[in-house]
Amino acid sequence: MTEQVRETVILGSGCSGLTAALYAARANLKPLVIEGHEIGGQLSLTTLVENFPGWPEGIQGPELIENIRKQAERFGAEYQTGHVVTADLSKSPFTLNLGNQTVKTRTLIIASGASARWLGLPSEQALIGHGVSSCATCDGFFFSGKEITVIGGGDSAMEEALFLTRFASKVTLIHRRDVFRASKIMLDRAQKHDKIHFLTNTIVEEVYDVTKKEVTGLKLRDEKAGRTYDFPTSAMFLGIGHEPNAKWVDGALDTDADGYLLTERYVFTKIPGVFACGDVQDRRYRQAITAAGTGCMAAIEVERFLEAEGH
Ligand code: NAP
Repeated sequence: MTEQVRETVILGSGCSGLTAALYAARANLKPLVIEGHEIGGQLSLTTLVENFPGWPEGIQGPELIENIRKQAERFGAEYQTGHVVTADLSKSPFTLNLGNQTVKTRTLIIASGASARWLGLPSEQALIGHGVSSCATCDGFFFSGKEITVIGGGDSAMEEALFLTRFASKVTLIHRRDVFRASKIMLDRAQKHDKIHFLTNTIVEEVYDVTKKEVTGLKLRDEKAGRTYDFPTSAMFLGIGHEPNAKWVDGALDTDADGYLLTERYVFTKIPGVFACGDVQDRRYRQAITAAGTGCMAAIEVERFLEAEGH
């Protein structure tokens, strides 16, 4: 029996991967989507998306993702849970090792996205799921009526803080500087909210209380005053950005210093037939619509590549 070789496999089921799947499916390439660690990607963890064109009232992130998924499925996209552990991209067809099986494919679209970043403190890591979280949408509900903290100074932190005001009695936003990366509109909204308080030039040094297996407070350092103090809180939500999910590539493709895949003309990697799109290769825009746009581009390039190869 000859081993099946796919025309194209897409790694990742976020906005970029699913848009690539939609275009590849409509080109009759029967794409296989390997869904990855976080099915649906970052949009599946957000609430209202107000800036995706075509939805004047906004649309819930999970609903938007489900819609694109169904749209691609309608044209023949297939989905498989799992993620790539290692890959042999040195020769075509490429071989993907999913741990319990291997998949061979003539072309590959890497849309593996980016995942939430952590502070890296041992006490933080020990309390993930016990009051430390990177997903306000997932875990905010558990802290109804409580005083909680959000870490970060970008749009993610503002969005999390604003969302968490639905549940918390008070949200303290802790940022390591006093200059914010967040857009003016998001920062304004957070600053004007009467439940949100700001602590700037402040670093989290430790999360209490590992022995109790719950968050009871933080050890904070006020950089300007040069003092450390204990700050009571019931939860710590991280909103400090994301890391690209490309470690499995293991040197086969070029990355920048932070691990984002390097591409030319948006989606071309240095290996013919391997394309990258969405947040795994985009540290500049990182929007749902740009991720979808590069997903579309990657699928069109796959189609052109296969045609040029005579498939
Ligand atoms: P970001 O803009 O890179 O901001 C990350 C924030 O976390 C920065 O303030 C950074 O501080 C802080 N930070 C990073 N590492 C830290 C550490 N180890 N300890 C303490 N603080 C740390 O990331 P983002 O907020 O996730 O946004 C990413 C992109 O998505 C942006 O383009 C943003 O506009 C977009 N986005 C848009 C929306 C929306 O429009 N609704 C929502 C979310 C995200 P420094 O400033 O000191 O570096």
